[in-house]
Amino acid sequence: MSGYATHDVLNQPPEFTGFNAYLGDAALRDAVGVFGAAWAEGRLEACGARVGAAHVQALAREANRRVPELRTHDRFGNRIDQVEFHPAWHALMGMIRADEVHALGWTAERPLGWTAERPLGWTAERPAAHTARAALSYLWSQGEAGVGCPAAMTFASMAALRHAPQLLEKFRSKILSPGYDAAPVPPAQKTALTVAMAMTEKQGGSDLRQTQTSAVPVGGRKYLLTGHKWFFSVPTSDLFLTLARNDAGISCFLAQGWRDDGSRNFLLLQRLKDKCGNRSNASSEVEFRGLEAELVGQEGRGIATILEMAQLTRLECALGSAGLMRQAASLAIHHAGHRTAFQRRLIDQPLMANVLADLAIEAEAAMWLAMRTAAALDAGEAALFRILAPIAKYWICKRAPAVAAEALECHGGNGFVEEHVAARLYRDAPVNGLWEGSGNVICLDVIRALTREPEAAAALRAEIALAAGGHKALDDWLAAPLPEPTEGNARYLAQQLAVALSASLLLRHAPPAVAEAFCATRLGQGNGYAFGTHPAGVAVEGILQRAAVQLPG
Ligand SMILES: Cc1cc2nc3c(=O)[nH]c(=O)nc-3n(C[C@H](O)[C@H](O)[C@H](O)COP(=O)(O)OP(=O)(O)OC[C@H]3O[C@@H](n4cnc5c(N)ncnc54)[C@H](O)[C@@H]3O)c2cc1C
Repeated sequence: MSGYATHDVLNQPPEFTGFNAYLGDAALRDAVGVFGAAWAEGRLEACGARVGAAHVQALAREANRRVPELRTHDRFGNRIDQVEFHPAWHALMGMIRADEVHALGWTAERPLGWTAERPLGWTAERPAAHTARAALSYLWSQGEAGVGCPAAMTFASMAALRHAPQLLEKFRSKILSPGYDAAPVPPAQKTALTVAMAMTEKQGGSDLRQTQTSAVPVGGRKYLLTGHKWFFSVPTSDLFLTLARNDAGISCFLAQGWRDDGSRNFLLLQRLKDKCGNRSNASSEVEFRGLEAELVGQEGRGIATILEMAQLTRLECALGSAGLMRQAASLAIHHAGHRTAFQRRLIDQPLMANVLADLAIEAEAAMWLAMRTAAALDAGEAALFRILAPIAKYWICKRAPAVAAEALECHGGNGFVEEHVAARLYRDAPVNGLWEGSGNVICLDVIRALTREPEAAAALRAEIALAAGGHKALDDWLAAPLPEPTEGNARYLAQQLAVALSASLLLRHAPPAVAEAFCATRLGQGNGYAFGTHPAGVAVEGILQRAAVQLPG
């Protein structure tokens, strides 16, 4: 103790940094192998080291503490409509772009079901590129989740832009570039482009048929848009997709942030949202005052066009929340491995071990479900992807806040203090459940797939049945008929299907201890309402060993 100290600081864990989020994640490595992306191990290992590095974790903290600020005017009074970010945000953006979280699947592999008519790229020697990209996205959500939003939208924009081949051709290489260019200038002057989407208006975000923004044609496929958007994340994006109404109905448009003459497009940033989480990322309220935009896809089919993009951002939500669960669980396991109470390490106390093992199982199940969804893109399993994307989005995003809250509690009071990562994860956890379709809306989409797309329902059932015979609880589940899908039981059905598929994936690919514990508590009779209710006999120690991340030294 030094001369002035009143006490020793004791019983605190070492910082949870300097780990490799890929090498330390046995389950993720298994999934990468199972789904055929082992060729990407080198870049996944590098990414895993990057996101776990002390300086990246510090950048994440800074980017979330020094939130973006709106600059409507310059000091001379000129309207500029810019957002000022802390340098940490730009540093993180540069890294996630370099890791190609926004691009890898497109540069290296055929996109889902689109190759015949409109090839976006093809490199046969890179199978499972969407799986590899998904693993990168999952890892980055453990570095800093805010930059995942622009990366996800840029990645998903390809699905909408394929309906506008000329625009795609014009912007494709800069969208997919591994560079990051934050300059507020037109796309033609830039080396790399970021893409966003602005759909939600005040009167309705889920019900996009209520869109009020109007579009007036000015020749060819060009239009001027007037109206507002109530939520518009990444308003500094170079390009963004949006919806507006004209005589044909609601159509999808692409707008540039800056016009070719260098001026801001007719886009007024009214306010930045003061958000509960996702604070590093800027989300704005905007008005379009004659915004110059170009039609994407068929007139009047705008919602269908933009929902193709949303299917991919839903996958991103699932991956992001699975990554968040992994980070929350591994932080909690790390803490409990170093903190003692009542003369024993927390991790050695049976009840805490039960809780931690339960968190680990939930996180692993989420990872398998999200990665299987991504793998469906690689395999061209269009029907399966159609139903898996909303199921994974709903269930994983629904579980993330529960995991974040329980994991926070494992840290005791320190977890509730802002300088702790657990507090940030807790505030970030709900957002993936909200955007890209909130829980109910997503479950209604699952019901639509079940009732109107029999091939999607059949593909899902066949996938679950691949583990038939693996566990009595799953066999019982497979033998029992599901209730008829209705609006009222949409959540029940989505949950049933998510849990059954997770069980099936764990039985086929995870160690028996993990699969057994999951089936017993999620499918069987042992299910409790809170984490930590595994019955006696569950191999808690083995589960924790698999989930723990080793720090260097
Ligand atoms: C941080 C953040 C960033 C965002 N960024 C963007 C962005 O960049 N671009 C963008 O376009 N939007 C963005 N959004 C908006 C987001 O997508 C919407 O908030 C979301 O789609 C829900 O729309 P809403 O807020 O209008 O709620 P509502 O549509 O009013 O829904 C309210 C609730 O009612 C439920 N509900 C709706 N319909 C039904 C039904 N038929 N049956 C049962 N329940 C129903 C919903 O599930 C939800 O729980 C962002 C939101 C947040 C929080």
